[in-house]
Amino acid sequence: MKHGTDVQKEKYLPKIATGELRFRSLAVTEPNAGFDTSKITTRAVKKGDQYVINGQKAFISRLSETDLMLLAARTTPIDSVQKRTKGISLFLVDMRESGKAIEARRLHMMTRHSVDTNMLFISDLKVPVENLLGEEDNGFYHLLDTLNPERIYLSAECIGLGRLAIRRAVEYAKQRIVFDRPIGKNQGIAFPLAEAYSEIEVADLMRYKAATMYDNGQQCGPEANMAKLRASEAASKACDRAVQTLGGYGLANDFDIERYYRDIRLMRIAPVSTEMVLNYLSEHVLGLPRSY
Ligand SMILES: Cc1cc2nc3c(=O)[nH]c(=O)nc-3n(C[C@H](O)[C@H](O)[C@H](O)COP(=O)(O)OP(=O)(O)OC[C@H]3O[C@@H](n4cnc5c(N)ncnc54)[C@H](O)[C@@H]3O)c2cc1C
Repeated sequence: MKHGTDVQKEKYLPKIATGELRFRSLAVTEPNAGFDTSKITTRAVKKGDQYVINGQKAFISRLSETDLMLLAARTTPIDSVQKRTKGISLFLVDMRESGKAIEARRLHMMTRHSVDTNMLFISDLKVPVENLLGEEDNGFYHLLDTLNPERIYLSAECIGLGRLAIRRAVEYAKQRIVFDRPIGKNQGIAFPLAEAYSEIEVADLMRYKAATMYDNGQQCGPEANMAKLRASEAASKACDRAVQTLGGYGLANDFDIERYYRDIRLMRIAPVSTEMVLNYLSEHVLGLPRSY
C-alpha cells in the first residue's frame, strides 16, 4: 500500500481485497541472522530484466495458503554498505510461478498448529524487476513502517486470548467442587485469576492508546511496543493460570486450554521477543546505551 508503484497497486490490490489473490507470507527471518535482520545473506543479483535470488529463510508462515510472498534479500552485500541496515530489498514473489526454485520444509512446532511454519531453500529464483517493492537497498526501512500496526494488532490478539482463558477458568472454578466447595472459593485460585484479569485490562488501555495515536498519524513506537509487551506477558500469565485452575484437565487436549497455553507462548518470541521490545524501550525511550 505504502511503497508499491501505481502499476503494482492496480495489479494486486483489487484481487487481494476480493480474496482472489492471497497475500499471506512474509519471508525475512534467516537461520543465521535471527532478530538481527541486517545479517540476512539471501542474495538478489540483477541480471537484465530480472533478479536472481539464492538463500535460505527460517520460520516462514502460511506458505501452503498464499499466492504472493514478500521476500527480503540483500541486493548489496553488507561489507559494501555504509550502514548495515542498507542494501536490503523487498520482492513480491508469485508463488504460483516459483516452481522448484523454492523448496519448503515444514517445521513441527509446539505452537499454532493451524498455520504452517517452514524453512525455505531458494535456488536461482527469478523475479521480474517490476516485482521489486519500494526502493532498491531500502527494504529494511520499508519493513520498519509495518512494525507499529503489527504490534498493535498482535496486542489485540493476545488480549482476546487472555480474556478467553480467564473466562473459561472462572467458569470452571465456579462449578468444580473439591473438598466440598467450588475451587474458586480458594483465594489461591481466585487471586491469580483476578490479577491476570487486571493485567489484561491494563494492557488493553495501552493497546487503545497506541491504536488511537497510529490512526491520528502520530509516532507511536513506544506505545505500540509497550502494548505488545504488556499484552503478551499478561495473556501468558492468564493462560498459565487457566491451566492451573483446570488442574489435570488443563493439560487434556479435549478442554482446549492447553492449546491456548501453547499458542500464547509464541507471542513472547515472534514476531518480536520480549527482550527486543525491552531493548527498544531501554534505548529509544529511556536513552540508555545500546547493549548490542
Ligand atoms: C512460529 C513462528 C512463526 C514465524 N513466522 C515468521 C514469518 O512468517 N516470517 C518471518 O520472516 N519470520 C517469522 N518468524 C521469525 C520470528 O519473527 C523471529 O524473527 C525469529 O524467531 C527470531 O529468530 P530466532 O528465533 O533465531 O531468535 P534469535 O535471534 O536467535 O534470538 C534467540 C533469543 O535471544 C534473544 N536475543 C537476541 N538478541 C538479543 C539482544 N540483543 N538482547 C537481548 N536478547 C536477545 C531473543 O529475544 C530470543 O529470546 C516466525 C517465528 C516463529 C517461531
